Amino acid sequence: MEPITVKDLRFRISIPAEEIKKRIAELAAQISSDLKGRNPLFLAVLNGSFMFAADLMRGITTPCEISFVRLSSYTGTESTGTVHELIGLNEDLTGRTVVIIEDIVDSGLTMRELLSMLKTKNPADVRIASLLVKPGNLKVKLDIPYCCFHIPNDFIVGYGLDYDGYGRNLPDIYTLVKE
Ligand code: 5GP
Ligand code: MG
Repeated sequence: MEPITVKDLRFRISIPAEEIKKRIAELAAQISSDLKGRNPLFLAVLNGSFMFAADLMRGITTPCEISFVRLSSYTGTESTGTVHELIGLNEDLTGRTVVIIEDIVDSGLTMRELLSMLKTKNPADVRIASLLVKPGNLKVKLDIPYCCFHIPNDFIVGYGLDYDGYGRNLPDIYTLVKE
């Protein structure tokens, strides 16, 4: 398959759309069965998870709610480095089963931070569903019960993930070509 150009870099297909679709359907069936009757609240982390969230939710067969949140970054003090603020969460999490829908877990630092923010809101249970995980880059211990694909430590775009704002619309997942 010929590489494509996104902005100024070359990428080649690593996970075709058909394979993504099939794996998401399996994951949705597993989540539906695990959380049957628990009225889960799905929280999709924008922007990267928008396509994954849309396809995953089509396969969820137990009554549930979905909401969309965003983590905005700002530079904290020198000692705290980059700090995130959680935007868009209007639901009461008390006693709820929450499923975070994320595009990719890389170092895991973002997920660890989000988990600790959500746990202050007294949910019954918080689980991570991530389209992609790079196990070789994980810097913190994280339980990721729902993951579609483990991938190597290469930069990827497509299916919601961007390179400098571009490539989110691509239906397949692409890996950077190292030249
Ligand atoms: P972490 O905190 O786990 O290191 O980073 C997670 C975030 O980094 C993801 O939500 C995503 O926005 C970004 N990220 C990590 N790896 C990649 C990648 O290969 N491609 C793209 N487009 N974003 C990535
Ligand atoms: Mg993300």
